[in-house]
Amino acid sequence: MQSLNQQLAVKVKALLNECDAVLIGAGAGLTSAAGIDYWDEQAFARIFPGWIKRGFTAQYQLMGYSHWSQEEQWGYYKTHLDYVYFSQQSNPLYQSLYQLVKDKDYFVMTSNVDGHFYKNGFDKSRIYAPQGDYGLIQCTQPCTKQVWEIKPFLDQMHPYYDAREQILTSALGIPKCPVCGSDMFIHVRIDASFIDDVHELERQALFDWLAAQERKRVLLIDLGSGFNTPTVIRLPMEKLTITLADATLVRVNLDHANTTLDLGNKVISVQSDIAEFIKNISIE
Ligand SMILES: [Zn+2]
Repeated sequence: MQSLNQQLAVKVKALLNECDAVLIGAGAGLTSAAGIDYWDEQAFARIFPGWIKRGFTAQYQLMGYSHWSQEEQWGYYKTHLDYVYFSQQSNPLYQSLYQLVKDKDYFVMTSNVDGHFYKNGFDKSRIYAPQGDYGLIQCTQPCTKQVWEIKPFLDQMHPYYDAREQILTSALGIPKCPVCGSDMFIHVRIDASFIDDVHELERQALFDWLAAQERKRVLLIDLGSGFNTPTVIRLPMEKLTITLADATLVRVNLDHANTTLDLGNKVISVQSDIAEFIKNISIE
């Protein structure tokens, strides 16, 4: 385990310069470092006054919450999506990250659903985001493998949205599947109704990209993948480091920079704030 210092930043920069390809793995820690923190009570008080009145103090409390009517649920999600997805069209931290890898042969795998990678310049065909996308909505049955852009569904809620209470005032605003009329939900992996097929092409693109790296020098950078869903990013990054002959994993994490598997000298664990790390290796 190392803490961030100039010597380490120089070492990582050298690895980045010398490698043939970069695989970025990203988890919730990167989103927090980018300033969208689901535990942030000050931001919650500012953005969600209606939900403060109902006794909540942070967004994480409403992740997976189920004791609400659909009018409350969609009122909350409309506010939440406006804040974490639609109002965040560019982000300085992701922009800096993009500048670091844009001229490299890169690929991204992320458990994040907030779309920051594609909003900040990363090529959508080089992103594997198997946990879903806040910009999309799907049928909860699901009756079809189709997913839709969520924006028109949120716009349709508008006449029924009470901005003070941050809930819907009528069931008429609740999105219904255009095909079968069932309830809908944001296209995020919460249960078996998630339409995984949507991600088959990106999964194949990642496998093809990895197959092409077998004999190349690959730098894997793991930014903030934790233990909520370790099998999505965290463990695969370690396994890939073992599988690829000439690979180095740089894992940057404030709390969990260690690895589960023994990677010997193929790993550099950096206990650091991710924003600090990116700032340090961005300095010419
Ligand atoms: Zn349907």
